[in-house]
Amino acid sequence: MADKYAQLVNQGLGRNVAKKLGLPQPAVLRRYQPGEPLITGPILVQGSTAGADTLATQLLAWDLDVRRHPVPREKLGAIILVLDELERPEDLEEPVLVVGASLRDLARGGRVITVSRPASETDSPAAAAARQGLDGFLRSLAKELRAGATGNGVLLAEGVQIASPSALAAVRFFLSGRSAFVDGQFLKISSPSGELPRDPEKPLAGKAAVVTGAARGIGAHIARTLHRDGAAVVLVDLPVAGEHLAAVANEVKGTALQLDITRKDAGQRILEHAVQRHGRLDIVVHNAGITRDKLLANMDQSRWSAVIGINLAAQLRINEALLASEHFRGAPRIVSVASTSGIAGNRGQTNYAASKGGVMGMVRASAPLLAAVGGTINAVAPGFIETEMTERIPFALREIARRANSLQQGGRPADVAEAIAFLASDAAAGINGEVLRVCGQNMVGA
Ligand code: NAD
Repeated sequence: MADKYAQLVNQGLGRNVAKKLGLPQPAVLRRYQPGEPLITGPILVQGSTAGADTLATQLLAWDLDVRRHPVPREKLGAIILVLDELERPEDLEEPVLVVGASLRDLARGGRVITVSRPASETDSPAAAAARQGLDGFLRSLAKELRAGATGNGVLLAEGVQIASPSALAAVRFFLSGRSAFVDGQFLKISSPSGELPRDPEKPLAGKAAVVTGAARGIGAHIARTLHRDGAAVVLVDLPVAGEHLAAVANEVKGTALQLDITRKDAGQRILEHAVQRHGRLDIVVHNAGITRDKLLANMDQSRWSAVIGINLAAQLRINEALLASEHFRGAPRIVSVASTSGIAGNRGQTNYAASKGGVMGMVRASAPLLAAVGGTINAVAPGFIETEMTERIPFALREIARRANSLQQGGRPADVAEAIAFLASDAAAGINGEVLRVCGQNMVGA
């Protein structure tokens, strides 16, 4: 699963040869390690609104080094562009040009983050043009950044201020190494609810979480990350994966539940296990998923129904059981694993893309149901992730898929896990019904 090419071009001779030949040079990404600073280097907060001042003050309260104006030739950890009062396309010009002039000072693994309002049908045409214009701007800028730097945006819905917990938490997530493989994405904050954690290193302290498909791959990493962040974890997988499941459960001091999630009573079994063994259930991560690729012309009923049954129908049924239970109350969280295939489509994956597109539809339509019980439901859509699933792709195709993103490399299971842990936290209470791509800004799809 190692990306040998990336290792080669990041060492002495290999680096020089790749440079001379103009070959892709994927950077070593800055990933989160407990105890490490949120970001190294000063943060330039660009923007002249009250929101920009508020954010700068908050960053100072987090002991970060903040600049309100560029200092010539000073290396920057991040640039945050606050444009929360955009009214006309002309409003973009001055701030984006200041950002442009500072880009050459952005450190390796640096961050550019925009904070703005989403364009909506109730905006004046000029305001909507400016707001949607920022969308295109950020996505293009992210493609221009190099050396593992990323560009992402926080969107504040009407009535949500930058000081609201989820907006600040989203800025923190994008600044940190937790978002290493999230690039060119926007995350909308739809409500001012939420609470920043007392201990930023243990945002899930006291929570009980369930992860399906946890015996290996991305699921095992989700379990490890939720445990690291303080949650007690129930690990669910098929009985045939029992040995691996037990090993990961031991590693994270969690409990194993051997269960086929397509069973009609799967939701009930999950609830019973979590409540009996951990006294509660706060977080459910729907990660279990399969591929059964075939061109549609050769598709048979068993391939179609297996993929829809495991990747989508099981989630719908389990969610119904969760929502009906008095044990899934307070601030419950559901996070589903979708895929960029469900957004962009993929040859040979009509069944898989239907299931993953379906997950995103389910998440959007379930958001009000979760909000009614004080909770949220969101999806994470991974792009190319280095796992046993993608190891099986033929070499040439794998190389193309792996490099076809702005970071020119595959993501790691831990990158998907970090996004899920963030969406599962209390601080993310204002994010509901969203799909966050973890794809290095994959060239395919939006
Ligand atoms: P994987 O095949 O390594 O792991 C999936 C796990 O789910 C396995 O342990 C399997 O036993 C379990 N599982 C399958 N059917 C089950 C069932 N009926 N009940 C309980 N458990 C079941 O896959 P992965 O690469 O780690 O992918 C995890 C998720 O991420 C999947 O939903 C996948 O579609 C999605 N995803 C992966 C990638 C990637 O690049 N690997 C990209 C996009 C999305």
